[in-house]
Amino acid sequence: MNTHDNAQNSENETTRYDRMDIEQARAFDETASKIFAPIYPVIARQILDRTKVSRGVALDAGCGPAHLSLALAQESELKLFAFDASPMMLAIAYEHITDAGLVKRVVPVLGDVHDIPFEDNSIDLIVSRGSWFFWDNLDLAFKEMYRVLSPGGMTFIGGGFGNAQLKKEIHATMAEMDPEFSKGVSNRMMTNNPDRIKKELEKAEIQTYDLIQDDSGFWLIIRK
Ligand code: SAM
Repeated sequence: MNTHDNAQNSENETTRYDRMDIEQARAFDETASKIFAPIYPVIARQILDRTKVSRGVALDAGCGPAHLSLALAQESELKLFAFDASPMMLAIAYEHITDAGLVKRVVPVLGDVHDIPFEDNSIDLIVSRGSWFFWDNLDLAFKEMYRVLSPGGMTFIGGGFGNAQLKKEIHATMAEMDPEFSKGVSNRMMTNNPDRIKKELEKAEIQTYDLIQDDSGFWLIIRK
């Protein structure tokens, strides 16, 4: 194989990988920006009301296009790391962060929740919406989160659509485009059910937590 072939192969691989990933990321952002948009400020307010952590450093784990990171930054004095395993999601996140004029407060970071690239005891608040359904090893992710949380720090991890009204409206809009949407959401919620989450927390040796299951969704608050 000559240099030209090598260059050609590597270009094809990059192009193929990027195109798939960017299409998925753009498709998610299209839905999040147009349909899910009203839920993020509502969830941000719930996070601030329930955790009372409104300053210091926060991590949005599996931030995607960073709508929740931005809503939290706008509602608080927090400095946020918008953290995701997908470079393409982070590229889109950076567009939104720039458009919002928040480049100094919301910083994109590439990484995996199973190996969080932050020091022990360095993060005051970890939030995460709609990402834990994709994590391979929940107990390892919880251990990592507990490690980086500062003493007195809290998490708000899970999934939800803000409140009963928003959930109803979003499910109705999504059903027009994807009749399987509601089934997909409830399947994911059934997989990460309270019993499973409790078992994973036990494996991670985390005892100080609350589970919230109401119109706001299903959320895990860990306290360190
Ligand atoms: N939190 C955003 C929201 O609610 O709009 C995005 C949710 S999106 C459904 C899930 C995100 O989790 C994706 O951006 C994906 O790349 C990210 N993700 C999945 N597994 C991850 C992991 N192991 N570490 C970090 N991010 C992950």
